[in-house]
Amino acid sequence: MITKIIDEDLIQEAKSLIEDAENIVITTHVSPDGDAIGSSLALCNFLKTIGKEAYVVVPNDLPGFLKWMSGASDIIVYEKKKSMADALIEKADLICALDFNVLKRIENVAISVADSAAKKLMLDHHLNPGNFANVVISYPQFASTSEMVFRLICRMGYFTEMTKECAECIYTGMMTDTGGFTYNSNNAEVYIIISELIKKGIDKDAIYDKVYNNYSESRYRLMGYMLYEKMRIYPEYGAAMISLTSEELSKYDFKKGDTEGFVNMPLSIKGVIFSAFFKEEGGKIKCSFRSQGDVAVNSFAEKYFNGGGHKNASGGESYQTMDETVAKFEENLPSLKEEIDAELKRRTNG
Ligand code: 5GP
Ligand code: MN
Repeated sequence: MITKIIDEDLIQEAKSLIEDAENIVITTHVSPDGDAIGSSLALCNFLKTIGKEAYVVVPNDLPGFLKWMSGASDIIVYEKKKSMADALIEKADLICALDFNVLKRIENVAISVADSAAKKLMLDHHLNPGNFANVVISYPQFASTSEMVFRLICRMGYFTEMTKECAECIYTGMMTDTGGFTYNSNNAEVYIIISELIKKGIDKDAIYDKVYNNYSESRYRLMGYMLYEKMRIYPEYGAAMISLTSEELSKYDFKKGDTEGFVNMPLSIKGVIFSAFFKEEGGKIKCSFRSQGDVAVNSFAEKYFNGGGHKNASGGESYQTMDETVAKFEENLPSLKEEIDAELKRRTNG
């Protein structure tokens, strides 16, 4: 039994927006991950199935390990096809904002979306939603936006219209936002949903293979270098930090997605429960933070690195040099000591 967590009024409001619309644009956050692409393509597939014109517009390109997904080759990458994307956004009567909740997260697409007369529907699982949408379906308790797409389709009464391709996209997002169901994944209903997706004909093992066994050799060379030379451990803080400059990345022929999951790796070390990853990209430094238990990295990201996110997975940006960014991190690491110590203690006692 899947419980009706999303408020019934919101479901009906979303249903009206969708049923009244003809031209729909779905958009998602910059550097889209498996959940961003999975939820967007799943919704797009569904909307087409029920006879709508639907497009997915993303700020920048998606990683290669997601390009096998049904509909991926039709995704419009804003930085490559700006005028086409702008025309679609202008013509749209509905814009669906998936897997983000503030316009800043869609960077270059934000102005056109904000200027568009289209109605806006937000479907998202991050904390503190902004107020740019007419209907806001924001539920941080869900592990993925893709799970929310499943729930929305079912609750609107369209489960029969869910295709196998749509189910594959939903599964991909659910899987990637939980690290292959290794964190944030103790909700029994997640497995009921997976069971429904399998009944739709998905091959979950094949999806795992396509997403996680699809990397380049250079990613593994870069990983070797990163682990050997660039991972710093701070035993007194139960913490780790990785930094990679653009020079280092290009030495290893870096392609989008090559550093996916690097930030999680130090958490496999006994005693490390907080991990930070700094990557120089496009003239700024992208920051990623991961933690375990009650160590809240979203407030750390917000306070020191212009970001935010979930309690155990957050990110931000730094506009300083790599050395300055790392120094700032080390300077502020003690601010988390109390939380980290408490969590480490809980782990030894538990
Ligand atoms: P990642 O480390 O995978 O890039 O991001 C992890 C999570 O942190 C994302 O799902 C998102 O919630 C949040 N996040 C990442 N970058 C930013 C950012 O620049 N600003 C904000 N507010 N959140 C971010
Ligand atoms: Mn997500």
